[in-house]
Amino acid sequence: MRQDWNGKPYYSLDYYCKETFGEKVYKIALNGGFTCPNRDGTIGYGGCIFCSHGGSGEFATDIHKASTDSTPHTPVLPANINEEIRKGLSLFHGKKVGDKFIAYFQAYTGTYGDPKWLYSLYSTALSHEKIIGISIATRPDCLGSEVLEILKKLQQKFPQKFIWIELGLQTIHEDTAAYIRRGYALPVFETAMEQLKRLDIPVIVHLILGLPGEDRDHILKTIDYVSHAVPFGVKLQLLHILKDTDLALEYEKGLVPVYTKDEYLDILLSCMTHLNPHIVIHRITGDGPKDLLIAPGWSLNKRDVLNSFHKLCRETGAFQGKDFKNDL
Ligand code: SF4
Repeated sequence: MRQDWNGKPYYSLDYYCKETFGEKVYKIALNGGFTCPNRDGTIGYGGCIFCSHGGSGEFATDIHKASTDSTPHTPVLPANINEEIRKGLSLFHGKKVGDKFIAYFQAYTGTYGDPKWLYSLYSTALSHEKIIGISIATRPDCLGSEVLEILKKLQQKFPQKFIWIELGLQTIHEDTAAYIRRGYALPVFETAMEQLKRLDIPVIVHLILGLPGEDRDHILKTIDYVSHAVPFGVKLQLLHILKDTDLALEYEKGLVPVYTKDEYLDILLSCMTHLNPHIVIHRITGDGPKDLLIAPGWSLNKRDVLNSFHKLCRETGAFQGKDFKNDL
């Protein structure tokens, strides 16, 4: 049955926040000075094939210059986090925003580090009066028992605030995962999901639409899998080709096709109609930084992509969950 999410055809993060917190909530993207085991040699060098040198966190406040594979990372002192939040808040100066913000540890692998350091970093962010919760982007293989333990402690210390974990799954297909050098197999993701569920920590799953070798059938299988795993949220991200990535080399050789805008809107529509309507959609486009983006150029006009998508939904009568089959 069709649901109405305040005029939108899908369960958006905006809708969730207004319903849950009574107002629009903004994210402050932070760079905690992390690195990634898929870059430092623990799992691999070079990282995922699509990942930029900024560790997919180019919008994070520049706490430290983003590390590269050849420069060691510099973990941020927890005491500096308040300053970074202040800088992040100042970006909203003069804009009509409320008083509630989410601290988003976006760049690199946000749970990869000494657990004591992680604890004080997160704890400092959660102590800030304007921060109502934190969201940590990480890998499912970086959620060991010590990390889970500190997340549990933080839940007890800040019962009024929340902790979300964002996991970069991208695809359920192992051959694609090997091609993009994700560096872990699907069962690792499943274990992480179970452990986080036990702790009652909401999970946001990142998926990339348009990965090399994947057609509509592959993508909808991933959507179906996520629909039945029922995480708190999902981010649907258009495949971007960014400068200085191995994917860019493949693209230049003509090995990686990218979607036209119409192709993307079409697959996005199918993803939305097949997605479980209980899952919050946190993103339907992508945030490819202008100075790094090679293709597709049309994605830079985010407003146009969103408007075109909403128009297509109106014209086709599509809505989230329309084609979802809850066969469990
Ligand atoms: S796991 Fe994340 S930070 Fe690490 S290489 Fe892959 S996309 Fe980049």
